Amino acid sequence: MDEQTVRIIQNSAYLIASVLFIFGLKGLTHPRSAVRGNLMGSLAMLLAVVATLWAADIVNWQWIIVGLVLGSGIGAFLAMTVPMTGMPQMVGLFNGFGGAASFLVAGGELVMRIRTASAETVEAAATVGNDLSLQAIIAIAASGLIGALTLSGSLVAVAKLAEMKVTIGGKKYWASDSVLLPGRHLINGLTMVLAIVLCVALVKDPTASSWYWILVVVSAVLGVLVTIPIGGADMPVVIALLNSYSGLAACATGFVLSNNVLIIAGSLVGASGLILTSIMCKAMNRSLANVMFATLGPAEDGPSADEVYAGKIKATSAEEIAMVLDGVQRVVIVPGYGMAVSQAQHAVRDFANLLEGRGAEVEFAIHPVAGRMPGHMNVLLAEADIPYEKLLEMDEINPTLETVDVAIVLGANDVVNPVARTDPKSPIAGMPIIDVDKCRTVIVIKRSLSPGFAGIPNPLFALDNTLMFFNDGKKAFAELIAALKDA
Ligand code: NDP
Repeated sequence: MDEQTVRIIQNSAYLIASVLFIFGLKGLTHPRSAVRGNLMGSLAMLLAVVATLWAADIVNWQWIIVGLVLGSGIGAFLAMTVPMTGMPQMVGLFNGFGGAASFLVAGGELVMRIRTASAETVEAAATVGNDLSLQAIIAIAASGLIGALTLSGSLVAVAKLAEMKVTIGGKKYWASDSVLLPGRHLINGLTMVLAIVLCVALVKDPTASSWYWILVVVSAVLGVLVTIPIGGADMPVVIALLNSYSGLAACATGFVLSNNVLIIAGSLVGASGLILTSIMCKAMNRSLANVMFATLGPAEDGPSADEVYAGKIKATSAEEIAMVLDGVQRVVIVPGYGMAVSQAQHAVRDFANLLEGRGAEVEFAIHPVAGRMPGHMNVLLAEADIPYEKLLEMDEINPTLETVDVAIVLGANDVVNPVARTDPKSPIAGMPIIDVDKCRTVIVIKRSLSPGFAGIPNPLFALDNTLMFFNDGKKAFAELIAALKDA
């Protein structure tokens, strides 16, 4: 087959893969089509890999096969063993590896092209102009900068999300704490300037590959510096942003290799990561700058837990709740991070089925940032085969909450905290919440009065119409099912 035919077949396969990527992403926007979307994306990736390997002039197949087997094996093992609560970390790790792959491939290309160019043959000399062209070298520099920043930033984000800690001199340090270096904005700014200067140096003298590797190290330092001040709680937003960066790095590497499918797939990841970041910021009513440069924590002059709760908390039991649920018409369950921690979704489904069997209407109110990653609750409830129609978005359910007999809040805290509406000084001020306080009765299931992610007390727990069922989420629902059956 002549080279032109090979190129036509390869680019046609790339075009089909790109269309599949786009439809795959579209499928991921709804739970009903998410599995199909995932399959389309996987098929597109397979097609892109096969088309690339088929058209490439590969001599040492054994290394490709070793890489494929190792990578697929590790990926499959992680996919099967990582718990749902560890999913954000895993996504973070994948972003980091994406960034690493991009800057390593771009660096490898640079080294190879410098060798070819200095191989003083007539053919090699003829290719110098193209191979180390301005476009290629700018793409290589961009890949090095963004890829290395993505790798180191993602590793810090993973450590924070996994709540890793180190003990130095008998004192424990948590990765999730904000590390606020003195003069950090100036240090970050100077490191960024240094990275840009290195990019310019590389563009001016493309044959000096050492500039590239210094750029990679400086960019990795920058990735650490910009991520350490951000608290563990904001990491999911940072992960979404780094996801976008990993796409941009891949896109830049696509320009280095003149590989169309890598350019398209990288742009898709870059754009969708940015859209996701913006959706998450909106759902928390915070700007991206606030997430990146401010620290989230309890307001200094905010009320203490004692002031909010003292003498006002009414603890309840499964038996008492079973009595409250007797003859109710409409029940809304509001899941949060605690459902993920306790893996209560299957028990919740059995409980909902039981109530429906007794004539009640049961729905689920889903806050866009409930849990620790977008769609966290949807994924867990879908895993338990709860029909999608029962999952209502916050904006849809809020206007109807006054007609709800009982709201059951399961391991959710910030997303139902009314201070978001009432206290403009609170760290979650303005964050849209699910207004469960407007329901006739509210039952809150959590283990203690400890705060949620934002670290502030929740006056919902002290309202006259609220009952607190202090328990682990899964155990609580098992007890509720038993109590309902006995009632
Ligand atoms: P929160 O972190 O506000 O609260 C979770 C609650 O779950 C805690 O109060 C905890 O209380 C309880 N809990 C923990 N383990 C269990 C268990 N085993 N059984 C029962 N309860 C348990 O979670 P929300 O989902 O309400 O809010 C999410 C927060 O995360 C928001 O502040 C949001 O801004 C933030 N966030 C979310 C992102 C996302 O993409 N989803 C991204 C970035 C931030 P106790 O210890 O007493 O049991």
